[in-house]
Amino acid sequence: MQYRDTLHRFNFENTSIRGNTVHLHQSFIIALQNQDYPDVLRNALGELMAAGLLLAATLKMYGALVLQIQGRGALKLLVVECCHQQETGDMTLRATAKFNEHISDQTLMELIGNGQFMITLDPKNGGEGYQGIVPIEGGSVSEILENYMRRSEQIETSIWLACDGNSAAGMLLQKLPERQETDQDAWNRTNHLASTVQNEELLELPVESLLRRLFHEEDVRLYEGQAVRFHCSCSRDSVSNMLRMLGKEEIESIIEERGELEVHCDFCNQHYRFDKIDSEQLFITDVFVSASHSRH
Ligand SMILES: [Zn+2]
Repeated sequence: MQYRDTLHRFNFENTSIRGNTVHLHQSFIIALQNQDYPDVLRNALGELMAAGLLLAATLKMYGALVLQIQGRGALKLLVVECCHQQETGDMTLRATAKFNEHISDQTLMELIGNGQFMITLDPKNGGEGYQGIVPIEGGSVSEILENYMRRSEQIETSIWLACDGNSAAGMLLQKLPERQETDQDAWNRTNHLASTVQNEELLELPVESLLRRLFHEEDVRLYEGQAVRFHCSCSRDSVSNMLRMLGKEEIESIIEERGELEVHCDFCNQHYRFDKIDSEQLFITDVFVSASHSRH
């Protein structure tokens, strides 16, 4: 497939309805390349990635949007983080799952058990953070999302998601509340048309063809796409900062006991190792920083 991983915004002219589509292949593959997840979780993460990007595209902010499905069954956690990067203007994603080994042939909902769904916003350009939690209801990732939107927001939102284990895709329609609608039937009509979408169409059609096929009698304006790529924000520096917060004594006792301390990133599978000399340097820097502060 030739086209890149892209997020597209569109709107229906002369209505208050806007939409997004997203198509992921490379970023989806790379995000999960070091993980050996069963198909049901791989597909759920793909749908959650698509959903996160669709929602992030509706927000005017730089920073991170994190979606979490927290389960009490064999599935403990699905996490997807989507970041609107201020420096490059593109969207990045990373994802991970925690679950009991040897999960059998169960549906996603059976694996979740009695779970909850959580959305966290962490803006990087000022603005307030936000966290919302709802119980998990519905039979699919898109139903979980729609239930969340119904419970927590005034904005009417519909979401369609698909993942075939190789690509993930999605479409979102949203009715902005602020404008008086002259075309009273527009929301029902566009939703009805969008509901006819097949998973294969979401996964395989370029956005122009998809919108033409679904909404050929509507006046749709499609905007230029925004690139999506995999990116993990972990680094040796960020891990060092976390270790400093644990404190010198704690770190030294672990290294004393095991010879080295290893921190593993669940998102990108990177291993960060700290031995005795590394740990000494961690805290030398710390002393240096606090000494230079005390001079002011
Ligand atoms: Zn990482």
